[in-house]
Amino acid sequence: MSFEKIRIPEEGQLIQPHGDGLKVPDQVILPFIEGDGTGRDIWKASVRVFDAAVSKAYGGDRKVVWWEIFAGEKSLEVYGENVWLPNDTLEAIKTAYVAIKGPLTTPVGGGIRSINVALRQILDLYACVRPVSWVPGVPSPVKEPGKLDVVIFRENTEDVYAGIEWEQGTPEVAKLIEFLGSMGKEIRKDSGVGIKPISVTGSERLVRKALQHAVQLKRKSVTLVHKGNIQKFTEGAFNRWGYDVAAREFGDHIVTEADLWSKFDGKAPDGKIVLKDRIADAMFQQLLLRPDEYDVIATTNLNGDYLSDACAAQVGGLGLAPGSNIGDHIGVFEATHGTAPKYADQDKINPGSVMLSGAMMFDYLGWTEAADLIRKGIANTVAKKQVTYDLERLMDGATLLRTSEFASAIIENL
Ligand code: NAP
Repeated sequence: MSFEKIRIPEEGQLIQPHGDGLKVPDQVILPFIEGDGTGRDIWKASVRVFDAAVSKAYGGDRKVVWWEIFAGEKSLEVYGENVWLPNDTLEAIKTAYVAIKGPLTTPVGGGIRSINVALRQILDLYACVRPVSWVPGVPSPVKEPGKLDVVIFRENTEDVYAGIEWEQGTPEVAKLIEFLGSMGKEIRKDSGVGIKPISVTGSERLVRKALQHAVQLKRKSVTLVHKGNIQKFTEGAFNRWGYDVAAREFGDHIVTEADLWSKFDGKAPDGKIVLKDRIADAMFQQLLLRPDEYDVIATTNLNGDYLSDACAAQVGGLGLAPGSNIGDHIGVFEATHGTAPKYADQDKINPGSVMLSGAMMFDYLGWTEAADLIRKGIANTVAKKQVTYDLERLMDGATLLRTSEFASAIIENL
């Protein structure tokens, strides 16, 4: 294995694939991308909490050997002009299987559309997984934020996000419009056009991941969210294929909502997961009005984009919203917020989102004790009203902490 500007650390070992899962050594090498803007402050704070949690959970028996890899603005410094996402970084993640990253600037008008989208597509990280639940004490715009406890599985490689679009006025879009005309579909000549592909492969593997998660963690339901009443052959097909894969591969574990009422009088038999589906617009209402009726959610890319931010807002915003991008083996864990550049290097921003993404990463590695400690440390610290500016401005009687001080308080409260 050869890299241009990075080296695999000499200490520690790499994760290896093992059947459908991963074999994780006790001294594990994990790559990290620090992130741009506030990413620098956030990473410094987060890594202290990660190391403290692993040390408290396992004594000296387990350890993370952190391996810095580059993307975004730091990559320009190391690899040169316009190299936002070097091959080294992609190869390092493929080699190590699991990585964590801070937020990255989206280059404006540069050779790459979005580093985050590129990472997901190149590494085929087809499931964007975002758990959303309330940390008690966090100010929220709703009366009972604790009723929302969902895990959103959002398809990551297809739909309008695949970036297949042509600009208005170009010869390419004229050609496409003419072709579509020959297929009986009239499009205004002064349009830009985007294509929305949704495949059996993409839909089934995403829904499979959501169902596997529900089975492993004994969740109560999986809801397929789609706009199939209008977009029948893309969104509607996603829904049908979701039911197909559930019936074919998870028949022993699920009961459909229709059967729940026709055969079981509305009460799920013990241990069964209820499979439901909802039209996307209705789902936005449902999550506000009856949040406790939903659990695991599987959806297409654009629906999932909107839903995950709306859910995050419901429990108090982006500062504590973790996320991950998962493929067949590889997992890249990341904050769901951006680089918040106006707060860069001020030791001010809330690092909770990256810290909770780290907890998800430790769960993924099977180091659940460390994951639980991180979540507990954050919950205890927020409960004591020791918080960063974003929460302090909304809480009565809270103590304002800097990013680094928040990390120290979490370590004390692990
Ligand atoms: P943003 O960085 O998410 O920041 C928007 C606002 O959200 C901030 O001004 C702040 O609000 C709040 N916020 C974000 N992170 C926070 C945190 N950790 N703690 C507390 N509050 C936080 O969005 P943006 O300004 O639109 O985007 C900046 C850059 O990030 C862009 O280049 C964008 O493309 C990129 N981006 C990257 C990712 C990613 O890497 N995954 C995701 C989204 C955006 P207040 O000012 O009200 O405090």
